Amino acid sequence: MKKVALHWKIMIGLVLGVVLGLICSQITGGKQFILDWVQPFGNIFVKLLKLIAIPLIMGSLIKGISDLKDISKFQSMGLKTIVLYIFSTVIAISIGLSLANFFKPGDGISLETVETLKSNYVDNASVKSKLLEAETQQSQGPLQFIEDMIPSNIVEAMGDNKSMLKVIFFTLFLGICLLLIEEKKAKPLKDFFDSLNDVILKMIDIIMLFAPYAVLSLLATVVVTSDDVTVLLALLKYAGVVVLGLLLMIVFYCLCISIFVKKSPIWFLKNISPAQLLAFSTSSSAATLPVTMERVEEHLGVEKEVSSFVLPVGATMNMDGTSLYQAVAAVFIMQVLWPEGLTFSNQITIILTALLASIGSAAVPGAGMVMLLIVLDTIGFPKELLPIGLSLIFAVDRPLDMLRTTINVTGDATVAMLVSKMERTK
Ligand code: ASP
Repeated sequence: MKKVALHWKIMIGLVLGVVLGLICSQITGGKQFILDWVQPFGNIFVKLLKLIAIPLIMGSLIKGISDLKDISKFQSMGLKTIVLYIFSTVIAISIGLSLANFFKPGDGISLETVETLKSNYVDNASVKSKLLEAETQQSQGPLQFIEDMIPSNIVEAMGDNKSMLKVIFFTLFLGICLLLIEEKKAKPLKDFFDSLNDVILKMIDIIMLFAPYAVLSLLATVVVTSDDVTVLLALLKYAGVVVLGLLLMIVFYCLCISIFVKKSPIWFLKNISPAQLLAFSTSSSAATLPVTMERVEEHLGVEKEVSSFVLPVGATMNMDGTSLYQAVAAVFIMQVLWPEGLTFSNQITIILTALLASIGSAAVPGAGMVMLLIVLDTIGFPKELLPIGLSLIFAVDRPLDMLRTTINVTGDATVAMLVSKMERTK
């Protein structure tokens, strides 16, 4: 019998998860059943992926760098990566801003809807915690994020998934120094990380066997915990603009793959699809990272020295989907609550702040929303309206988070392909 491809299996899990969620939301006790008996399997899967993220970054980054043999190669690759990341993010934000200005999703929102959303969410614990988080981040100095990249204790950094950049910094430093010492002396440590890398890749294979079931569990949970349909419908135009922008990003990536990498976009999308589906189900680029790395290296043919650097850095710093969403959401909120603030100069400021915000957003569910608050605050959005602004977009945030995370991961994979192509044709 022909083996069913992984992406199909995950897709079937996804559809069954939605169906199960819909059925259970109609049955009394159904929601509790999903939360008690189905949700834990999805959570276990996400935990397993996160569990291997740090050793994977260390093993593969050290292998990648130490295979380079030449430090200057690393410099040129690093520079290309950063430039491409900034370029793709600026494209994403510009698409978001153009669409939001063209379709004006905020104009269709009645005062009544604003009142309903406000009363539904303004006291919501999650809205409050996001406001608090944004306030804490804002009280920090402008160079704080650079300071935060440097760990003072690597064991502590490895114990916290949010400290991925710290681990990347330490590993890069270690890998570079491994290149600088005598080859004979570097060999044992290099062999150790090579072997670690192979073992972790095997672990990913095994974990991925559970992906279809986990996706079923994650989707069923999203469906039973989502808001009622009337609220979602009120925000349909806003959500539609975000979705359209994200689709345009996929077109942009496909063009890059076809024009610059000279490969078929269909081939690219087919091979990256398991990572996209996981990003969609988990809403976390960090949790998806092991699978993205495996797909990009083993199915898209990107060299380890490229993918091991480009992808972990991208998971934390390059978020095209998130920045596009931030641009649309900022304009939408302003159209409803603060139309006088929609000046040209404020929109230019949005490009700059959303770029920095997407670099600063953690690769976890809902992080983009916290940074959106900072974007709004930078352009002088009235502080007292911030909770109402957040209430406006809260109901559709989870589905949009799922979609923007999918784009974040696809963007990272595209840049990995581009850098690999440039390095090969040098
Ligand atoms: N969930 C997104 C990610 O992990 C970040 C965000 O947009 O909230 O990539």
